[in-house]
Amino acid sequence: MIKVQFAAHPERWDSYRPALETAFAAAQLQVDLRQDHPAAEVDYVIYAPNSDLQDFTPYTRCKAVFSLWAGVEKITGNTSLTQPLCRMVDPGLTAGMVEWVTGHVLRYHLDIDRSIATQDRWDPVVPPLAQERPVTLLGLGALGTACATALQRLGFPVTGWSRSQKTLTGLHCEHGAEGLTRALETAQIVILLLPDTAATENTLNATTLAHLPKGARIINPGRGPLIDDVALLDALDSGRIAHATLDVFRQEPLPQTHPFWAHPRVTVTPHIAAETRPLTAARMIAKNIQHGESGLPFLNQVDRQLGY
Ligand code: NAP
Repeated sequence: MIKVQFAAHPERWDSYRPALETAFAAAQLQVDLRQDHPAAEVDYVIYAPNSDLQDFTPYTRCKAVFSLWAGVEKITGNTSLTQPLCRMVDPGLTAGMVEWVTGHVLRYHLDIDRSIATQDRWDPVVPPLAQERPVTLLGLGALGTACATALQRLGFPVTGWSRSQKTLTGLHCEHGAEGLTRALETAQIVILLLPDTAATENTLNATTLAHLPKGARIINPGRGPLIDDVALLDALDSGRIAHATLDVFRQEPLPQTHPFWAHPRVTVTPHIAAETRPLTAARMIAKNIQHGESGLPFLNQVDRQLGY
């Protein structure tokens, strides 16, 4: 019997338990799933950093820790966690992110705000076609690539930027510091889907924001520290950046006193772009346990050096 510990916020147990049991049965895995196994007996931990479990030292036979979250910046600093750590790549979460990003891109592209603001007059302004609206995705991982592909299917010319060089059909791919400058220079809409690491902090700062064309819009469903808040506020105040939609922040919940709340050129959403969905996430976890039990490399393993 494989002993799996569920270590997430207790209120998640009721939604995850049936999904995990179904997925384990479908994968023909004999699993004893609990929240209270003795630590030294646990084979795998399903983990969210807001659980009580912070010290992994007693988990001496644990073969892997499966994060329920795609972003692992709150876990990678835990020095007691020496087991392989896998981040969440979940088709349900990805679908949610594609919908959220596409919706906010189309809001900007079609200038839906203008339609809402001009309900008192007949004032036709026809939006351009998607093919005339270059979009840049910073981050071409599981989520960035899915969003880039969806936007490309709608006709947007999409440029993507990643750490390593990539070749993706139909996308213009850039990497490195010079690649970032090129990726920003033409972008009318920029979407950030990078992980929060030492190397990605303030990816958008006063210097890089200055590479964007006047009137560009920014959508950040990645992580708060990817953007220098002060530099963004300066660019918004001067009108160089027309608008920003921000889902993630350095401090969450975003403090009521933060200038983003009242800024006329900012839309705040409360970290709701995409959530892990128990049904599809459970299948991914079952698949990864199958990998572990048959000696195959774990899927979506975090590189501790890179931090994602
Ligand atoms: P991922 O698969 O790990 O992809 C990360 C991408 O970022 C990769 O393309 C990677 O480049 C690139 N990257 C990393 N460091 C870089 C650097 N220094 N310079 C340039 N590119 C760099 O991650 P994911 O699953 O797509 O998720 C991305 C992020 O979305 C997560 O880390 C999380 O913070 C955020 N997220 C937010 C929500 C929400 O609700 N708001 C939900 C889920 C996730 P390579 O391809 O070269 O490795």
